[in-house]
Amino acid sequence: MAFPIKVCAICSEEFELKPDKPGFANRCPACSTTETAGPTTKDRMDADERKNATDANEARREAMRDLLYRKDS
Ligand SMILES: [Zn+2]
Repeated sequence: MAFPIKVCAICSEEFELKPDKPGFANRCPACSTTETAGPTTKDRMDADERKNATDANEARREAMRDLLYRKDS
């Protein structure tokens, strides 16, 4: 049984358009999955925010070290 071959609008890959394929008809199964995996983007943003917080802590720690060093010398 042959399904119509479509070209994905996202990644330009050819895929079989099966009647039970979830997502958009012009997107391959992989890109349809990506579309529904919305929280991934949010997680990445949270990771960036965590990184910024880490950088801020790092800067604060360095400032403390400078203060201590100045006091010792
Ligand atoms: Zn695709």
